Amino acid sequence: MSFSSLPLCPEIQKAVAEMGYEQPTPIQMQAIPQVLAGHDLLASAQTGTGKTAGFTLPILQYLQDNPRKGGGRPVRALILSPTRELAAQIGENVREYSRHLRTRSLVVFGGVSINPQMMKLRGGVDILIATPGRLLDLEHQNAVDLSKVEILVLDEADRMLDMGFIHDIRRVIKKLPVKRQNLLFSATFSNGIKSLANTILNNPVTVEVSPRNSASQQVTQFVHLVDKKRKAELLAHLIGRDNWEQVLIFTRTKHGANRLAEFLNDSGIKAAAIHGNKSQGARTRALADFKSGAIRALVATDIAARGLDIEQLPYVVNYELPNVAEDYVHRIGRTGRAEATGLALSLVCVDEHDLLRDIEKLLKKQIERMAEPGYDPDPSIKAEPIQKAKQGRGGNSRSGGGRQGGQGRSAEGRGNSGGGDKRPPRPRQHKPRSGNSDSGSPWGNRGK
Ligand code: AMP
Repeated sequence: MSFSSLPLCPEIQKAVAEMGYEQPTPIQMQAIPQVLAGHDLLASAQTGTGKTAGFTLPILQYLQDNPRKGGGRPVRALILSPTRELAAQIGENVREYSRHLRTRSLVVFGGVSINPQMMKLRGGVDILIATPGRLLDLEHQNAVDLSKVEILVLDEADRMLDMGFIHDIRRVIKKLPVKRQNLLFSATFSNGIKSLANTILNNPVTVEVSPRNSASQQVTQFVHLVDKKRKAELLAHLIGRDNWEQVLIFTRTKHGANRLAEFLNDSGIKAAAIHGNKSQGARTRALADFKSGAIRALVATDIAARGLDIEQLPYVVNYELPNVAEDYVHRIGRTGRAEATGLALSLVCVDEHDLLRDIEKLLKKQIERMAEPGYDPDPSIKAEPIQKAKQGRGGNSRSGGGRQGGQGRSAEGRGNSGGGDKRPPRPRQHKPRSGNSDSGSPWGNRGK
C-alpha cells in the first residue's frame, strides 16, 4: 500500500514524500482511514511506529475538506502531550506535514514565558499542541478559546495518567464542545486508560499494531549484571572501546543523570544530562547537540526522554532500571525506531533484580545476559532498597513511589547467567556519522 492510495490531498502527499516516507506504517494504514471517516479512535501503538503522522495527516486533511465557518481563527484540533519534548516533537512534525498548506499550528508548554504564546494564539491557530498544565494556564487567562475544538488527540495517554495529569485532562475536556472527534493513543492499556477511554471516547474503533506491552521487535536487548559502583566505569569502557557514537542513557534520578554526565565528560566522552530541573533552553540545546553529534551521550530521566525522536538511534542504555516495568518498553522504544535496528543494554546491580524480574515478566521472556570480562558482580554485596525518585510534574522524574528492590536478599545470578561472554551485535542500518570504518568486531570498532 502506498500513500497515494490514501485519500490525502496532493499538498500532504508532497510533504510526506519530501520526508522520505515511501509507504504508510501499519498504524498509519489503519488509523488514517478511520480518522478520516470521523470515528473516535483508541489506538495502541508502541513508540516509533509513526503514530504522529497517523493522527496528524487525517487532521490536516479534515481541516482542508472542512474550511472554518464564521469569523476568527479558533483552535480546531487540540493535541495534548504529557511532556514538553514530545509536544515540541509533535509540533515539528505537524509543521513538516503541513508545509504546503495554509494550516497554522502552535506548540505551547510550561517552563518558558507565556507571553509569546499568548501573542501567537491571538493571531489565530488551527492546530494547538499543548501540555495540559500550560494549556489550562492559557485558558484561565482567556488567551485561548477551546469552545470550537473539533478534534481532540490525547497522545501517550498512559504517560499522562502516570504523571498525574488526569484532573488537568478532565478540566480541559470540560472546556471543549461535547460534539467532537476523540483520538486516544497509548503504548499500554492499563485499567486507568480503559476507564479514561470509556469516559472520553464515543463508540471508538480500536487499532492495535503491536501486542500490548511488547517491546519493539527491532531492538536487540541485553542485560549485564554488574555492581552498582562499577556501572559508570563499565559504561565508559564500552562506549569508548566500541566507539558508540550516539547513546541515550537512562538514569532513575535527576541527580544521577548529572553525576553520570559529569563522569562521562571526565572520561573523555562528551555527554549532557537532560531532566526536569534543566531549563527548557538547556534541554533543547542538549538535544540539538546530541542529534548533530556534538555530544555522544545523552543522559536522561524517563520523563525528560519521553518524546525524544532521534532518527535511527543505535544505542540505548538503562544505567538504572526503571521502577515501573512498562517504562522499560518506552525506554528501549527510543532505539530501533521506524526501519532501523537498535541495541538496548541494561546494567543491572543486585538491588535491581526484582525490577528485572518484573520487566522479564512483562516481556514474557528472559533478556539475554552478556558479561564483559572483569566486570562480574561481587557476590558478597547484599541488595539494598532502591532510592526513590523525587516526584514531579511536567518533565521531572516519574511520579509514583519507587519500589523497594530485593532488600535483604543475597546476591544472585552473578556472572554469565545464560549468556556467557556474549557481545551484542552491532545494529544494522546505522550509518556512522564520521569516518568510522567497521573493524569487523561484532560490537564496533574495538581497539580504535
Ligand atoms: P513517531 O512514532 O510518530 O514518533 O515516528 C517515528 C519516526 O518514524 C519519525 O522519525 C517519523 O519521521 C518516522 N516515520 C513516520 N512515518 C513514517 C513512514 N511512513 N515511513 C518512514 N518513516 C516514518
